[in-house]
Amino acid sequence: MNIILLGPPGAGKGTQAQRLVEERNMVQLSTGDMLRAARTSGTEMGNMVAGVMDRGELVTDEIVIGLIREQLEADNGADGYIFDGFPRTLAQADALGNLLLEMGENLDCVIELQVNDEVLVERIVGRAKDAAAAGEPVRADDNEESLKIRLMAYYKQTSPLIGYYYANDDLKSVDGLASMDEVAASISDALA
Ligand code: ADP
Repeated sequence: MNIILLGPPGAGKGTQAQRLVEERNMVQLSTGDMLRAARTSGTEMGNMVAGVMDRGELVTDEIVIGLIREQLEADNGADGYIFDGFPRTLAQADALGNLLLEMGENLDCVIELQVNDEVLVERIVGRAKDAAAAGEPVRADDNEESLKIRLMAYYKQTSPLIGYYYANDDLKSVDGLASMDEVAASISDALA
């Protein structure tokens, strides 16, 4: 089974993806994590995308599609892939459809995590404050200014995917404001 977790920054995609990995022997493909890893290891691509990410803008389709293609070609999909933070544009959605088709795979479900903007801003700014107080590293894009840009990128470039997948009969919407366990249960129902 291959699924996409779709939703704005702070909606809980990463948390829910982790649970699916533990419970279902699936592999999480997070383009955000891949890009952060590229930055940490100081690759040319990592250095190139750093400023764009810190501002909260989207990295080019070419780069993220390349990252996903590499992972799919490595073919360690176990019992399926959870795409987390990808696709984020219509071009990425088309590319993913083609990659899966080439592999003889299907996209089984797109789960939209629905949340409201005020909660997102509180969650992300709160997450940054908690990390700072605990002496942990704070993501450079977890500040109010970058967050507004990330939200704008979501509404302008990513939210059209909700209609795209709805029209494709793949979309299931889940209330992302419920507790972590309740969201996980709703996702399980949607996948049943
Ligand atoms: P969040 O969902 O919390 O905003 P992510 O970890 O998914 O964060 O992504 C962090 C940043 O990485 C994004 O703001 C963007 O700059 C870049 N990024 C991640 N995935 C993509 C993608 N699919 N397309 C373009 N840029 C991406």
